[in-house]
Amino acid sequence: MSTATEAKIFEILEAVKDPEIPVISIRELGILQQVTIDGDQISVGIIPTYSGCPAMFAITEDIKNTLKSQGFVDVNVTLLNEPVWNTDMITDSGKAAMKAFGIAPPQSLSEQQVSCPLCGSTDTTCISQFGSTACKALYRCQSCLEPFDYFKCHA
Ligand SMILES: [Zn+2]
Repeated sequence: MSTATEAKIFEILEAVKDPEIPVISIRELGILQQVTIDGDQISVGIIPTYSGCPAMFAITEDIKNTLKSQGFVDVNVTLLNEPVWNTDMITDSGKAAMKAFGIAPPQSLSEQQVSCPLCGSTDTTCISQFGSTACKALYRCQSCLEPFDYFKCHA
């Protein structure tokens, strides 16, 4: 077994992606909050993007399996109550990857209008509050007429 350092664990966990947006790591999404090492035991602290998101179970399993594949078998994954996740925790690279994937990244709270990830137009309307998953809303662009998913703000 190689020696575990927190930086090494963070590096390995970069391979754990969001199950709904497989181009973004859980670190970029702000889910991965802390790694602590105590002897051979590794504790990973994650926060839910919003309560009840079924993705958290899949993410927990993915973290354990990914670390196990690197030889780290004694892994605890804890769901933290704090900090409370908000969309500002998504890194700029995460937002860019989300946009490239065709999902409009969450706007900061000062921006009211959702812009189209395809053409950039802000002339968009919400078709449904529930897109392909509960985390997303379905929008349509009035300029290019394409529907797209918008990652909903959970502030
Ligand atoms: Zn458009």
